[in-house]
Amino acid sequence: MSISADLYQELILDHSKSPRNFRAMENPDREAEGINPLCGDEVTVFLKIEADRIIDVSFQGQGCAISKASASVLTTMIKGKPIADAEQLFQAFHDLVTGKPVSIDVGKLAAFQGVAVYPTRVKCATLAWHTLHSALQGEQKTSTEGKE
Ligand code: ZN
Repeated sequence: MSISADLYQELILDHSKSPRNFRAMENPDREAEGINPLCGDEVTVFLKIEADRIIDVSFQGQGCAISKASASVLTTMIKGKPIADAEQLFQAFHDLVTGKPVSIDVGKLAAFQGVAVYPTRVKCATLAWHTLHSALQGEQKTSTEGKE
């Protein structure tokens, strides 16, 4: 597929080709696995948490360019952030890719705005975020089935 050819497309290509924080983590405080059956994307998110702050985050998995880039950008956005901020970003990102108004500055996440016009790709973009949310809630598995 080709998402709208704006200047942000480069960011998605870059992150899908060279994903950041793409590694397993030893002794993570939280770990969750997410699947997107619609596309076949799989992601595992690892977190180290200290005093309600995400001090380290990494991921592993396989899937399409959008799912991989989204997971990669996610790790760069939430590292060092309080859990509450990460949850707020999850909500904002979800609003962004489902075409709803977004009230906070989403920074690099704006690159995924074009996904909103491709309903079948929304789950690719949100998979890592749903998985992060599950990990923060202490759940170990999630699926995009029945979610946006
Ligand atoms: Zn996908």
